Amino acid sequence: MNAASALATADTAPQSAAADLLPHYMLDLRQMLESYMTPEQVRQVERAFVVGERAHRGQTRKSGEPYITHPVAVARILAEMHLDAETLQAGILHDTIEDCEGVTKDSLRGDFGDNVADLVDGVTKLDKVQFASREAATAESFRKMLLAMARDLRVMLIKLADRLHNMRTLEAQSGASQRRIARETLEVYAPIAQRLGMNKLKSELQELSFKALYPHRHAVIAARIKSMIGNRREIMSKIEAALSARLKEDGLHARVVGRVKSPYSIYRKMLGDRKTFAEVMDVYGVRIIVSKVSQCYQALGTAHAMYKPLDNRFKDYIAIPKANGYQSLHTVLFGPAGAPIEVQIRTDDMDVVAERGVAAHWIYKTESTPANNAQMRAREWLQGLLDSQRQAGSSIEFLEAVKVDLFPDEVYLFTPKGRILALPRNACAIDFAYAVHTNVGDHAVAARVDRQLKPLRTRLVSGQTVEIVTAPSAAPQPQWLEFVVSSKARTAIRHYLKQLQHEDAIALGHRMLGRALADIGGGLDALPEDALRRYLDENRLRRLEELLSDIALGARMPALVARQLWANEGQSAAAPRDAVRISGTERGVMTFAHCCHPIPGDPIIGFLSAGKGLVVHQTTCPNVVEMRKQPDRIVRVDWEPEVQGDFRTQLKIEVANRPGVLATVAAAIAETNSNIENVEYLERDSISASLLFTIEVRHREHLNDVMRRIRRSDVVQTVQRQSG
Ligand code: MN
Repeated sequence: MNAASALATADTAPQSAAADLLPHYMLDLRQMLESYMTPEQVRQVERAFVVGERAHRGQTRKSGEPYITHPVAVARILAEMHLDAETLQAGILHDTIEDCEGVTKDSLRGDFGDNVADLVDGVTKLDKVQFASREAATAESFRKMLLAMARDLRVMLIKLADRLHNMRTLEAQSGASQRRIARETLEVYAPIAQRLGMNKLKSELQELSFKALYPHRHAVIAARIKSMIGNRREIMSKIEAALSARLKEDGLHARVVGRVKSPYSIYRKMLGDRKTFAEVMDVYGVRIIVSKVSQCYQALGTAHAMYKPLDNRFKDYIAIPKANGYQSLHTVLFGPAGAPIEVQIRTDDMDVVAERGVAAHWIYKTESTPANNAQMRAREWLQGLLDSQRQAGSSIEFLEAVKVDLFPDEVYLFTPKGRILALPRNACAIDFAYAVHTNVGDHAVAARVDRQLKPLRTRLVSGQTVEIVTAPSAAPQPQWLEFVVSSKARTAIRHYLKQLQHEDAIALGHRMLGRALADIGGGLDALPEDALRRYLDENRLRRLEELLSDIALGARMPALVARQLWANEGQSAAAPRDAVRISGTERGVMTFAHCCHPIPGDPIIGFLSAGKGLVVHQTTCPNVVEMRKQPDRIVRVDWEPEVQGDFRTQLKIEVANRPGVLATVAAAIAETNSNIENVEYLERDSISASLLFTIEVRHREHLNDVMRRIRRSDVVQTVQRQSG
């Protein structure tokens, strides 16, 4: 029996019986469809359900649910966008060709016609194109995707809905697949959704991917947003009320809506604009929605009369829409509390397009009224890309063209010889230098940007021609790490600094061996040249520096080396046993143990571990007991009177579990000029929570100061240093 005849039976059955046959998730969908489709169209979609349900029968998702729930959920996402019946049918059938025996493109053609069969086939082919990451995405994979989109944009809409539902149900996947799918979503599908103007869908894809890729960062930001919300809401509603009242006075019917920031958008701003969380949050967002274009400009006048606008921040995206069809007026005002207010003003129509992009007003398009702005733009875009694909001399050039468009967060720059280099947004001249060649980066002193001499930290924008000025004596500076954004530059600078560490290692090894020799009455200077030479030869070391670095890095025991070196001299004396002093500058070659986090002022002991070098513990650390069994590896160490730098330590803090607690404690810590490195919840119930803060302090007194300050807060029950 083919599908069509099965449906004939279903169609002739009494209406109520047919409804009873449909599971609840399908009834939901029917309700949505009935809100904008004709009864005939609804029946067509249900026909697809019957075929899809039968084809997937017996299959389950990773979560254990019947497989058909997935395509129905995809269809529901498409129905929310009010897409047409064919798209909905194809949405329900999107996995049948791939996963179900007996369903082919031809059988679908017979049952549902050419369009639906082509759509399902298009989505199936697209599923096979994998983009592991933006870097790994090949010209070929983009070409396939583009061709599928250009033939029928609805293929991409179904694919995006499919991806959205997969992201919503990502937990059922293994950790590795979660990350792969999330990365692909963030780097390829979210930019496509953005390019198609589908901002609502794009944002959800981004938030879900961000949460899957960086669960910890997401949790921290979400918690901070939550802790801030009370105070903000009050200011927000004041601004909203004031604006509404004034618009009404001016005779405008307008909706004023406060905009809420999501964790990912905050994260992007912090990263991209190098702002702190507080700086990002210190901006209010308001949207004013009116019914006619002329009213947009009137509303702008009202807003500007109320609060002073910031210079140069007004943008008219109504007269000149964005490439994806987005239209709005943007302005930034000095708010009542001194905080800037970002205002978007647009019509209802523009608002729908801003949220749904090409999918907006889709239903009208099929009835051959003019396409909306976003649809026109999308078509122009795809047409342009198809043309550039035909013209491009190589697939690489084509790939560049697609990427410039899809990934506006990259900048494209020229070398003086006309070569194009792609760098992440906010890249500076040093990033460019390292992108040209590591040697150029290592010896860079300045840059000529469009022939003008500029400092190396200058941020670059697309289209600039950049030339790097080098000097043989120049060398990478540690502070470069504060503004480079490309991983190549970062890696190269780190590598260079590591070389410097090697020099530190020699210096520390020198001190350690000197100390060990002094312990047995000798000294490095007193060591005869040939005794040293002999020792180095016997141990296959080329130079003294190698021996010293070995000692500092824990490969050789200083006491043992000292005895062997000095034994030849036949001298021995009980010498004052001094410790090796730590000044805080030896970080490259010595580490402070993570079990007990010693800080200046703590009694300490060093343990030489092969591979890790000298590891410093508190003498009270429980792990020290075991270490003492290897006395050769123990190094007596002590702090210099003046130690430089910040040292990591941990505090266990019990607090009342109330909103805003984390922020209160964090503020107390920040007041004492201590950095918070990390926070985690150790335990948490409805009454209290136990937090583990990893912070940085200068010394014990500083730590005591921090703890005193935390105890003063009334939400804190106990504060304890964690050591060992
Ligand atoms: Mn699917």
